[in-house]
Amino acid sequence: MNINTFIPDAFIEDVKSYIPDHLKIEDFITTCQTPLKRAVRVNTLKMSTKEFEQECAQRNWEITPVPWCQQGYWLERPEQEEAALPLGKTDLHLSGCIYVQEASSMLPPMALKDALTHANTVLDMAAAPGSKTSQLVAMLNNDGFLIANEFSSSRLKALSATLKRVGAYNVGLTHFDGAVFGDYMPEMFDAILLDAPCSGEGTVRKDADALKNWSLQSNIDISDVQKSLIKSAFHALKVGGTLVYSTCTLTPVENQAVCQYLLEEFAGLIEVQTLSDLFTGADKATTDEGYLHIWPQIFDSEGFFIAKFIKTGAKAVSEPKTKKGAFPFAQMPPKQTQQLLQEIKKQFAIKSLPGEIYLRDKEVWLFPTVENEQLLHAVKFSRIGILIGTTHKNGVRLEHEFATCLGHLATKNTHNLDAQQAADYFNGKDIRLPQPTTASGEVIMCLNGAPVGLGKWQKNKIKNSLARDLVLDGKLITWE
Ligand code: SAM
Repeated sequence: MNINTFIPDAFIEDVKSYIPDHLKIEDFITTCQTPLKRAVRVNTLKMSTKEFEQECAQRNWEITPVPWCQQGYWLERPEQEEAALPLGKTDLHLSGCIYVQEASSMLPPMALKDALTHANTVLDMAAAPGSKTSQLVAMLNNDGFLIANEFSSSRLKALSATLKRVGAYNVGLTHFDGAVFGDYMPEMFDAILLDAPCSGEGTVRKDADALKNWSLQSNIDISDVQKSLIKSAFHALKVGGTLVYSTCTLTPVENQAVCQYLLEEFAGLIEVQTLSDLFTGADKATTDEGYLHIWPQIFDSEGFFIAKFIKTGAKAVSEPKTKKGAFPFAQMPPKQTQQLLQEIKKQFAIKSLPGEIYLRDKEVWLFPTVENEQLLHAVKFSRIGILIGTTHKNGVRLEHEFATCLGHLATKNTHNLDAQQAADYFNGKDIRLPQPTTASGEVIMCLNGAPVGLGKWQKNKIKNSLARDLVLDGKLITWE
């Protein structure tokens, strides 16, 4: 029980006005004061759930599957171990094999699952810090093109770091008010996730101060932003496409009312798809409209709201816009591309790269293959795909992301780090080899089988190529 959890009386009075009959306000308050169970999602781009379960068994980590997400687990570690080494500094986390994500936050991408099986172009309209983006990338298995947008600059950086860690290469990052997509990219997306900015009432179990500034007026103010975003999402969606709207708040002002606005504004052009059968037991949280209203006490989780819609007809945007400004990338000339691909094949036995190679000055980028070139030119991107190298006079010097995102394709010149070597590697040290090697050139460093960066073979050691900003504080790593 967290007695410091701040729950204002006015909030409780408001909740009483809309809590469903089958739930008790007392249970709601008690659950809000009870700390959350920690959950993680296995990043299947780097590790299978079976491998993860084996790792947990070896480490005495207790796991319980999250019923609505095959890759999700509630996780408990021995207390002493947790105190000595936070989960975020463990090998499984550093290698991008797991992502700490609240269990109910795994639901919105799951609601898009059907749509993703045939989606080429996907938009995550409010994406940072990237828990759901990284889940979507894994569900897409890095295929197609996912635009992840974030309005806040500092949070955009966090999103970018997340995507590098999990090995995403099919993402374009943009930095806009999500309200612009309807005007700039009308009918371009097969699927859209709008995990909207909200008042965060559902997060109080994680953050005891989440309700400090609560007021009905602030709910109403945020709902105006949510309406502008959902309207934009409608226009940006192709006819036949799927939209999932979600928030981590409970008030109908930011949930049902925003959905109702969408249904009225575009009457006859959009339909609700019920989520009552999303997983066994989902009906316990399904509203009459077919939305999921996840009260914290139902599944012992954070509070969440999820709604799913199919667009059935189009309405032209009143003010379509086109991007101004040049596209700063050019496709790498075929001869140079061939040379690079040959070098990669020779060193790592990687036969081809999943995408198109572009240049911007000295930077070499791997862009995802897009179904329509227009997608790359419709808006300005902060980045597209991954930076795989930089050109220099003798060819291309590979970059960190080449290893973390494409290293799993290599069958040659990889090195599996043991626990001590991994600690050394993340602390910026070179890796001593037990025996001298004749290997030369670059080597992809792996941890638990997942690629984590680059090194360079030298006679008795692997020289560490980890960039300085990725080197950790040595004291925190004590895996032995
Ligand atoms: N989807 C994220 C995840 O799962 O990690 C969480 C998103 S959070 C609920 C909402 C995000 O919307 C915040 O990062 C916030 O900065 C961003 N945001 C706020 N106003 C926005 C706007 N007008 N357009 C796009 N994003 C916005």
